[in-house]
Amino acid sequence: MGTPICTRCVLPGTGPDLHLDGEGICNVCRDHEHRAAAGGEERQPLETDFVRRLGKYRGRGRYDCLVMLSGGKDSTAALYFMKRRYHMSPLAFTFDLGFETEEAMANVKNAVDALGVDLLVHRSGYMLDLFRRIIETGAKVVLCHPCSIYYMQLVFETARRYRTPLVIAGWTRGQLARREDAVRGRYDGGSPEYRAMARATREFLATLRGDPKYGDFPATMEEVVRRAGRRGRIVVESPHWYLPEATEDHTALLERELGWKRPARSYPEGSTNCSLNFLSSHLSLRHYGYTHYHVEMSKLIRDGLLTREEALRRLRPDFDPEELRAIAAHCGGTLPGESCP
Ligand SMILES: [Zn+2]
Repeated sequence: MGTPICTRCVLPGTGPDLHLDGEGICNVCRDHEHRAAAGGEERQPLETDFVRRLGKYRGRGRYDCLVMLSGGKDSTAALYFMKRRYHMSPLAFTFDLGFETEEAMANVKNAVDALGVDLLVHRSGYMLDLFRRIIETGAKVVLCHPCSIYYMQLVFETARRYRTPLVIAGWTRGQLARREDAVRGRYDGGSPEYRAMARATREFLATLRGDPKYGDFPATMEEVVRRAGRRGRIVVESPHWYLPEATEDHTALLERELGWKRPARSYPEGSTNCSLNFLSSHLSLRHYGYTHYHVEMSKLIRDGLLTREEALRRLRPDFDPEELRAIAAHCGGTLPGESCP
């Protein structure tokens, strides 16, 4: 057996940031327990709060909001709700670094067609060489982190260009416990689960200073937010923070209304992520013993939205070594020698 994992959630006791006590329960679960006992858990925001906030943005410009759309179930549901449930006029924005699957792009197209929403696709190979450096140097950077930093910068720039100060993400409550943490808290080192990962990203991005190609790459997500804030406030919201049901419950609705299809394979099982995510998760498991999906699902378990058994089942790694090599090759790199089990 490998590293022992928490008996309540799915985080491993890899120390020093994450550790298990005598009862096999991790420090994150214990902190949660103590906060709840002290009555420190915040009120779950209500949909009426969200509707009130949306009112400030409706009808002010050509679009009411920019929706980050990947074709996955959570972002597709966010777009659907903005248009059909909240009667906003959204601009959909899709980001493709060359790893979006055909299935995801078909979901994007079907959704905007069915909803009559304008779509912008930004497709770029700009990040490939950055991924190659991470892969070949063995830096412990989670590939998704620099990607999401770059993506958020693009989102803010695009929102600015179309004068839509409201950005809608498909982020779930597992991804962000508190809406105040939006963007800033996503991969920052504030929580023990992300501390080591955030440090690796920060250290790697610091090496890019003075680099002709990546010299102006934001050093952190905080810097992205700071840069965006210089030219006026942009607000990020997600309908999933306000809706009481688990996002899994929206799948049937999306299939029926938008012809949405679940991809045949994804990690974690049942999710809808880009293909780079297979390599990112594989490397993350190797470097840390867990992925950010373990963190997200652990939050959902603590909130009673997912069972531990279901999380463990969906998080079981099942990567195809050939596919991992092909993804690295697409970045122009080769995977450093893997030791055979
Ligand atoms: Zn735990």
